[in-house]
Amino acid sequence: MILPIVAYGNGILRKKCEEIDADYPELKKLLADMYDTMHHAEGVGLAAPQIGLPIRVFVIDLDCLSEDEPQFKGYQLTMINPEIIERSGDDVTMNEGCLSIPGVNESVTRKDKIVVNYFDENFVEHEKTFEGFEARVIQHEYDHLEGHTFIDRINPIRRQMIRGKLNSIIKGKIACRYKIKTA
Ligand code: ZN
Repeated sequence: MILPIVAYGNGILRKKCEEIDADYPELKKLLADMYDTMHHAEGVGLAAPQIGLPIRVFVIDLDCLSEDEPQFKGYQLTMINPEIIERSGDDVTMNEGCLSIPGVNESVTRKDKIVVNYFDENFVEHEKTFEGFEARVIQHEYDHLEGHTFIDRINPIRRQMIRGKLNSIIKGKIACRYKIKTA
C-alpha cells in the first residue's frame, strides 16, 4: 500500500524514534508498505518517521542505480533498531535529496565508512561495515531516526538561501509527483 510521505516541517521528523521488538504488530506489512511507498516516489531510502511512525526502521533499495553500478542489482536492505557504532574513512561531500523535502538537493559531507549493528526483516542481528554510497544512504536514513534531516547538515549560508523553498514545503505549496503530508 502506498502511503503519503511526511513533509519537512512536520514535527514527527524532529522526533528521536523508539526501538521496536520482534512482536511489533504487522511488521511484514509495514515493511512491504514502506517499500511500495519508496518505489512509488522513486526514492532510494525511506525511514519510518517519513510515513508518520516514530520507530527505528528504514528501508533502502539501490536497484535503480544498477545500470551504472551492477553491484546494486536487486539490492534491498532493511534495518531495524540500527546503531552506527563506528564512523571512519574520508569526509566525502555529495549532493543529497530527501523524499520529505521535494525539489531540494544540497551538498552534504559524511564519513565514507561506517560499522552498523542492526536487525534485518527477520529480526536476525548483524554487525556489518558499509562504504561509499551505501554508507551515505544509511547515514541519511539513520539521521531520520535521530530526528534530523540533511538540511541540518548543510552549510548555514545555503540553508538561508533555500529558506523560501523550505517554507513553501512547510506550507504544502509545492508540486510533487507523490502524495505528501504537511504538518
Ligand atoms: Zn530523507
